[in-house]
Amino acid sequence: MAERTVIYPGTFDPITLGHVDVIKRATKLFDKVIIAVTTNPKKKPLFPIDERVKLVEGAVKGLNVEVDSFDGLLVDYAKGKNCTVLLRGLRELSDFAGEFQQATVNRKLHPEIETVFVMTSAKYFYLNSTVVKELASLQGNVDCFVPENVSAALKGKFGK
Ligand code: ADP
Repeated sequence: MAERTVIYPGTFDPITLGHVDVIKRATKLFDKVIIAVTTNPKKKPLFPIDERVKLVEGAVKGLNVEVDSFDGLLVDYAKGKNCTVLLRGLRELSDFAGEFQQATVNRKLHPEIETVFVMTSAKYFYLNSTVVKELASLQGNVDCFVPENVSAALKGKFGK
């Protein structure tokens, strides 16, 4: 049987334990998981792309996944990787509209593409990178929301 590969795209600015939870679940469902960090300058990321990739690499140590980065259209990146499955994480209801739109547009652009959604653990339902950055900028403790290497990087950015 052919190897089942999935691409998990995102800004990962920075990667949180919610993302890691989704990644762990994906490793049980797919033979190969590619985490694809997008440059996404529109979002004005706190961490530059190289740093975000390094933080993801540190956070997924020990897991059988590949970490990569891309800019431009996701469907073109997926085509280049010969992959037709995209993975997205779902949290509370507010994620749905945006994800539905993105998946529908991607399918229009590349009808072979399927987007699959994995639900995170309930404890990460409310968690996103924005709240983590806000907390860290106010010297709040983010240790229960992000992997250790990310917590250290945030201290480096916002530490007094
Ligand atoms: P993007 O900017 O593409 O939305 P993100 O890095 O914010 O990228 O998120 C990447 C994916 O991970 C998205 O599908 C998002 O819904 C999902 N995600 C983010 N945080 C969590 C979380 N706490 N639990 C589950 N999925 C999450």
